[in-house]
Amino acid sequence: MSYAIPAWELPTVAVAGSEDRFPVHRIYCVGRNYAEHAREMGHNPERDAPFFFTKPADAVVPDGSTIPFPMNTENLHHEIELVVALGKDGVRIAKQQALDYMFGYAVGLDLTRRDRQGEAKKAGRPWDTGKAFDRSAPCAAIYPVSAVGHPSEGAITLSINGELRQQGDLNELIWSVPEVISMLSESFELKAGDLIFTGTPAGVGPLQRGDRIEGAIAGLGTLGITLSSD
Ligand code: MN
Repeated sequence: MSYAIPAWELPTVAVAGSEDRFPVHRIYCVGRNYAEHAREMGHNPERDAPFFFTKPADAVVPDGSTIPFPMNTENLHHEIELVVALGKDGVRIAKQQALDYMFGYAVGLDLTRRDRQGEAKKAGRPWDTGKAFDRSAPCAAIYPVSAVGHPSEGAITLSINGELRQQGDLNELIWSVPEVISMLSESFELKAGDLIFTGTPAGVGPLQRGDRIEGAIAGLGTLGITLSSD
């Protein structure tokens, strides 16, 4: 095949313990999936059903990267999240079957322009400028289900320059991973290659130029990202 303009490289994420890469089809994200985070954002976690937004597939950034401070924000926030990688296509997936669709799990960072997101919320406009910008989805190596099973408890943390800022446990997810996949698959044709960012625990806050961000999830290693100082 020849392309009318130069074609770009398929976005990929590393696979832990393998030379293989995981090709990224789409990135879905869940809003407000930990009670304490819903409360810190001014919402009632008992009442609110989950909702979804997306990021472009090429927003992924590998572990160990130094990235430029994003343009068009004075309030860049960190959200550490469990990422689920799908290995199979499906629609209207029953939650009892959802685990069969999983390829693996990873540590991810939902970088957020909180100022742009806040303006969008207030005006009833889409969140893309706040959420779906370049390099907004750093993602560490994916641990295959064959190696780690299906983690449903364990610490999820984020530190900035060595100081702990976010701390939660996977068992605090309001909507479990199977429930998230089932609900998402009622609206979208899920595909092998999709990543799902499953929401962040409490403690989100601003990042500064030069910050060293380290996220970790028990059993899934760490994600280290540095914001360049200029
Ligand atoms: Mn998030």
